[in-house]
Amino acid sequence: MSASQTQPSIEVRDPLESIGAALFQPLGVDGVYARTALYEDVVEHLSALISRQRDPRAEVLRFPPVMSRRELEKSGYLKSFPNLLGCVCALHGTEGEIRTAADAYESGGDWTQSLTASDLVLSPAACYPLYPLVGRRGPVPRGGLTFDVAADCFRKEPSRELSRLQSFRMREFVRVGPPAEIAAFREHWMGRAERLAEQLALPCKLDVASDPFFGRVGQVMAVSQRQQSLKFELLIPYFPGAEPTACMSFNYHRDHFGLAWGLADGAGEVVHTACVAFGMDRLAVALFCVHGLDLSRWPGSARRALAL
Ligand code: AMP
Ligand code: ZN
Repeated sequence: MSASQTQPSIEVRDPLESIGAALFQPLGVDGVYARTALYEDVVEHLSALISRQRDPRAEVLRFPPVMSRRELEKSGYLKSFPNLLGCVCALHGTEGEIRTAADAYESGGDWTQSLTASDLVLSPAACYPLYPLVGRRGPVPRGGLTFDVAADCFRKEPSRELSRLQSFRMREFVRVGPPAEIAAFREHWMGRAERLAEQLALPCKLDVASDPFFGRVGQVMAVSQRQQSLKFELLIPYFPGAEPTACMSFNYHRDHFGLAWGLADGAGEVVHTACVAFGMDRLAVALFCVHGLDLSRWPGSARRALAL
């Protein structure tokens, strides 16, 4: 009789569970957490490290967690990821109508039946509000533009995994300009990101990837995106043998946003865009999973890079 036949089956626990309690406190909804001081301290140091890597010519903009619904619609988001979008709804109407709707809750009814969409959505990525903003400024100067943007993002993908949040922080470096410049920017950042992971003593690999486009048509979009190598990801295994988690992405949009927002150079030539996204929460969780909860015991190179 083998050992496996005599032993009672051992419950396989999520290795993230034990560290999760030191980093997050539950807020009653999967994928939405209060963050502890230990965790936020590392996120702040990570943000500062990323700021030190930024192109000195970059313009810094910080966006709120909401953006214009019309602008996101015009960006084509509903074609690609309608299942992930969160829309801000509110009670509209007269005082009487709003009172009646709200009172429905007190009498055990469903007040949400009276909600209607506002002109805001929850930003699903940090760079979406940037392209219309650039479009409003007129022609893109020769040599293009570089930005450092960030936002709290929302995606409706509830999960109990600490790597998949509904509300998470995204930092992005974005380049707008002629196609050759954009390709070089993304290439450059793929190399920089690998070196950054090495400094942070995080095991990683870069791989071509695709977005989780919605539905059957979405599968075709994903294949095409992959064939054209439009998306790469920096993948980090959270513990030895784990399926690696995408902690950064490198996205080449070609002329998608240029056409949507009339982004063109002085000669009227449509410009291209690319973004490099840092998943702040995924990177921070990766650091704790790989190096543990005691920051004083993190590898020297990681402590130096983060100025801990
Ligand atoms: P994406 O636009 O999907 O490439 O997202 C950019 C980065 O945000 C990813 O590389 C992840 O690091 C991070 N990210 C995306 N979705 C989530 C999520 N549900 N929870 C936490 N981080 C996420
Ligand atoms: Zn982006």
